[in-house]
Order: sequence, then C-alpha cells, then structure tokens
Amino acid sequence: MTRLLIIGPPGSGKGTQAHRISEQLGIVEISTGDMFRTHLANRTPLGVEAHKYLDAGDLVPDHLTTAMVRERLQQPDTKDGFLLDGYPRTLSQMEDLDGILEENGDTLDTVLEITADDDEIVRRLLLRSQAEGRSDDTEGVIRHRLELYRQETEPVIARCAERGLLVRVDGTADVDHVTADALKGIETATARTDT
Ligand code: ADP
Repeated sequence: MTRLLIIGPPGSGKGTQAHRISEQLGIVEISTGDMFRTHLANRTPLGVEAHKYLDAGDLVPDHLTTAMVRERLQQPDTKDGFLLDGYPRTLSQMEDLDGILEENGDTLDTVLEITADDDEIVRRLLLRSQAEGRSDDTEGVIRHRLELYRQETEPVIARCAERGLLVRVDGTADVDHVTADALKGIETATARTDT
C-alpha cells in the first residue's frame, strides 16, 4: 500500500515521473492538471469554470479543486494506493487533503519533490509550448506559475519536510536517472516508516 504525493515546479518533469513511478509501483496516478484539462475538453460545468484560471496560469479555487480530489479519492481503484500529482498546491489544500485522508482512514507515506531551477524550467516549457501548444505555456504565464509555486506550494513542501515525509530528487538529471533516484528514495523512505 503506497500513498504518495509528487510535487515540483511546472516543467520539472513531474508528470512524466508520476506516470513512470505509478506504473512501476502498480498504483493509480491522479493528476489534477490532467483532470482539469479533461473537464475543459469535455466542456463540463467544472471545465467551463476552471478555464479562465488555467489559461492565466492561476490556481483554480481551493473549494473546486478539493471537491474534485475528494470525489476521486472515493473511487475504489485508489484503495490499493495512489500517486497524487498537482495536489496539494497550497497549505489550505494540504489541510483539506489531511481531512479527506482521515475520513477515509488513510495516511500519507511519502512526498516526492522534483527540483529544477528557473532557467531550465522556462527553457523546457517554451519547448513544450512549441511541441504541444498548451495555452498556459507562454513565457509570461510560465513565470507567473513559477511565482505561485514559490509562494503557495513551497510552504507545502516545508510542511511535508517537518513531518519527515519528504524525499527530494534532482529533476535536471536525465529522465531515467530521475526515475531510478525517485524509486530508490521512495523505497528507502517506505522501509523506514514500516519499521
Ligand atoms: P504544471 O505544468 O504547472 O505543473 P499542471 O498540469 O499540474 O501544471 O496544472 C495545470 C493547471 O491546472 C494549473 O496551472 C492550475 O490552473 C490547475 N491546477 C492543477 N492542480 C491544481 C490545484 N491543486 N489547485 C489549483 N489549481 C490547480
């Protein structure tokens, strides 16, 4: 049973790693960014509401995001563990998540942080914007997302570190290397909490 969070700045490669790690560990991957993009593509009421925040690189309001995550974590496929990507992004979401887990009688095992410096992030995201055309990948919006990350999400990481949950890996190494480091870190951390 593994319940993990993956946290990292936009462009740190956290989506790619989330995919590989969840597959390797046989747990479901839950990406709030992907969930919002699916709502948007399907023009659901939540998608219509979230649209303006996504395009501006702003955070979707906590109550909408938390309601979406709460519902997702009630699905039976999460009972054997999950890897949550993109949530919590604020301290308030962290408290919400603690509440949801408590309601479900669960606790978090490990929080994986993928690090990358700002110049590398901007370089990677501008490349991605040419390749994929994501509407939130323009330079101004990228810098805004980074700023929000520093302001809102770094305190979440600090809180996880205080709780002794944090495993940190360098996201600027090559992709396979990052995956190997992450899996090793998760294994060590999980072994520690099991004893
Ligand atoms: P990034 O590439 O910045 O890591 P994601 O794909 O995780 O982005 O998310 C894309 C967008 O979806 C965010 O910029 C934000 O608008 C919205 N979003 C995703 N997760 C959350 C969250 N936990 N709280 C609020 N908004 C979120």
